[in-house]
Amino acid sequence: MTIAQNLAAVQQSITRAEAAARRAAGSVQLVAVSKTHGPEAILPTLTAGQRLFGENRVQEAQGKWPALRAQFPDLQLHLIGPLQTNKVKEAVALFDVIQTVDRPRLVEALAREMERSGRRPACLVQVNTGAEPQKAGVLPDEAAAFIAAARQRLPVVGLMCIPPVDQDPAPHFALLRRLADEAGLPERSMGMSGDFEAAIAQGATLVRVGTAIFGHRPVPGPAA
Ligand SMILES: *Cc1c(COP(=O)(O)O)cnc(C)c1O
Repeated sequence: MTIAQNLAAVQQSITRAEAAARRAAGSVQLVAVSKTHGPEAILPTLTAGQRLFGENRVQEAQGKWPALRAQFPDLQLHLIGPLQTNKVKEAVALFDVIQTVDRPRLVEALAREMERSGRRPACLVQVNTGAEPQKAGVLPDEAAAFIAAARQRLPVVGLMCIPPVDQDPAPHFALLRRLADEAGLPERSMGMSGDFEAAIAQGATLVRVGTAIFGHRPVPGPAA
């Protein structure tokens, strides 16, 4: 299957999952995760009408998106990977949505850069729903207080999670949904290639799908 065919198949699955969950058609937006893939892979999806894209590294995104954006000015870029405070300036300049806000220092750095630049990308708070020690995100117990503080400085519109790889993701999606509802936040970014239908059943509004559209990513070699 071509990339355009993969994209169409994913969109059909999203439409079916929306209907199965008795949700309105179009209530779930597809973020095509293009990390590691070059313009030759991304262009067919733009031509097919895809406009939301996710990247996990600021530097990689800076290298490939300005040229694509010149051709497709209405595309939207989401940062879905960890953000270091020393990359905040570049991130605010490039991304339309930052999905990985997860610590007070980052809130502070983003708020200052947004004030300085006048650009205000929408923000999602990443929640570590599985409380995994190695994983980014605020702990579920600390989410409400963190969200309340972050909202005073940033345009926070929702929550994002990446469930543990070895568990049923459904309870994690349900937890993110509950935390978003309690905070009165409309956006829930959850679900990837392997589980986006389950995420839609649990109320995802943004699904982040890479492999099912672009194929497998090259396996990174050993660290140099
Ligand atoms: C890579 C990535 C995805 C996409 O994963 P696939 O399994 O390739 O669909 C989604 N979310 C985040 C945060 C990612 O880093």
